[in-house]
Amino acid sequence: MASQKVLEYLDAHRQQHVDQLCDFLRIPSISSQSEHEEDCRRAAAFVAGELKELGLVVETIEAGGLPLVYAQSEIKPERKTLLFYGHYDVQPVDPLELWDHPPFEPMIKNEIVYARGACDDKGQVYTHIKALEAYIKQGIELPVNVKFIIEGEEEAGGESIYRYTEQNPEKLACDAIIVSDTALYNESTPGICYSLKGLAYMEIQLKGPDMDLHSGSYGGTVQNPGNALAEIIAKLKDENGHCLIPGFYDDVLELEPDERAGFAELGYTDEILKKETGAPEAFGEEGFTTLERMWARPTCDVNGLASGYGGEGAKTIIPSRAMAKVSMRLVPNQDPAKIAQLFEKYVLSIAPKGVEVTVIDHHGANPVLVPRKSEMMQAGMKALEEGFGAKPVFIREGGSIPIVGTFQECLKSPVLLLGYGLSTDNIHSPNEKFHLSNFWRGARTTAILMEEAAK
Ligand SMILES: [Zn+2]
Repeated sequence: MASQKVLEYLDAHRQQHVDQLCDFLRIPSISSQSEHEEDCRRAAAFVAGELKELGLVVETIEAGGLPLVYAQSEIKPERKTLLFYGHYDVQPVDPLELWDHPPFEPMIKNEIVYARGACDDKGQVYTHIKALEAYIKQGIELPVNVKFIIEGEEEAGGESIYRYTEQNPEKLACDAIIVSDTALYNESTPGICYSLKGLAYMEIQLKGPDMDLHSGSYGGTVQNPGNALAEIIAKLKDENGHCLIPGFYDDVLELEPDERAGFAELGYTDEILKKETGAPEAFGEEGFTTLERMWARPTCDVNGLASGYGGEGAKTIIPSRAMAKVSMRLVPNQDPAKIAQLFEKYVLSIAPKGVEVTVIDHHGANPVLVPRKSEMMQAGMKALEEGFGAKPVFIREGGSIPIVGTFQECLKSPVLLLGYGLSTDNIHSPNEKFHLSNFWRGARTTAILMEEAAK
């Protein structure tokens, strides 16, 4: 098996690869802060340089914001093609005082590297680059054609990757898209995430009088936007957590019996949830387990509420305005645009008299479902099993990765979400980390995947 020599190479170069990863991590490529634009460009150049050195044809693409790095190997028509996606930008680091160590001076302790971007996503991107390096440096022909598209606006919600994907589907054409920007199921169990929730994000604004009024002088004579908003919110869900928007559940793809059985086998309990969240008890839509609600049932949740006076002591007013932000996490096959319309129609229909109600549709993302039985999925499962030395499980994810939906739609290829991080790796938080064992096993997994995907 060719991969034996490849894996030997990865084992022999562990320390070197960690040192190189640390160089990558030293670049403070915070995409949402304009003073770091040069750093972001340096991070792009770092990725481009590595891929160029491996003999790939590399382009640094200016698509309006921070550059996209595109690279491809020689494309042989008889070989399958894998497209690797990731991002070189990172989240801001504040609050800095909560870091035990400067975020851009990587520190290694107990085989864990601590730095901003260690897990999200530089460390994971690097597993793919090092797997490729192993084939090239060992002089072993690649089992597949490889393409890379590494962006720099993921953490800032930039548009470049979307525009580029929509405009260049032939260039990015592939048999599967590999995304390593998620987590293992737990420390000892790898998983493939085959479904992501979508999103419809709404805002409700209520206007009553032109200004806050004296609640004694005018109370009882005009509608109170705060009370009116509470009435609206109270009608979004019933006491059993069931959403009351007509048509909300119409397109929901119900779980297959084997999915429900698979979730149950994972042994996630309400006790674990309580420990993770500190909530007094589990709560959600009746008729479903906690994991089913988390992964496969749509939600409708207030994300923020504001009206009137919230400061110290009392202030006797009828507030002039009220607003709420509401997120609906969607599941296959719900359509964010349709759900946003249903939401608006329903809210306007239940709006109490005496206030002006405006509903704003902020943004949406499509839910994603990747067929579990495809050949590529099997290749991914096999690679994870060999790479991590443990049987992987199928998992879903309650969050959204909007680019995954765009890839699926524009490229018509399955997306394999092979996460090598841990949910406890503090991504987006102080003391972000990545376990070196997962870094090394991730690189092995990617190397094996290239061979499995070719079969
Ligand atoms: Zn990420």
